[in-house]
Amino acid sequence: MHEMGIALEIIEIVRSSIPESVKRPRVERVHLKIGRLSAVVTDSLRFCFEVASEETPLAGAELVVDEIPVEAQCNDCGHRWTIDEPVFVCASCRGGSLTLLSGRELDVHSFQLIDEENDHAH
Ligand SMILES: [Zn+2]
Repeated sequence: MHEMGIALEIIEIVRSSIPESVKRPRVERVHLKIGRLSAVVTDSLRFCFEVASEETPLAGAELVVDEIPVEAQCNDCGHRWTIDEPVFVCASCRGGSLTLLSGRELDVHSFQLIDEENDHAH
């Protein structure tokens, strides 16, 4: 399953970013940026993440998904726009030579970490 690999990758990225000084890390929330062209099914990703994060500091963390629109630029006239439909033709000059500027990303943007060793004094 495509989403399981992604879930494992997210967990790996976050775990490797937790500083060693945090004794009992618990991740509350993970912010992701997912391009609309990355073909990730968010519900399926949430499910995989829930299963894969068991017994890790990420168990029970909330996934906050930010969808990145697909942006393209026409190679002929330089027109830039956001693609809503899978029509890859320049909206201005109808040219078919495009560069995709965004829409394929899948990034861990940030995450919220708490150290359960400390008091919950925020
Ligand atoms: Zn154009």
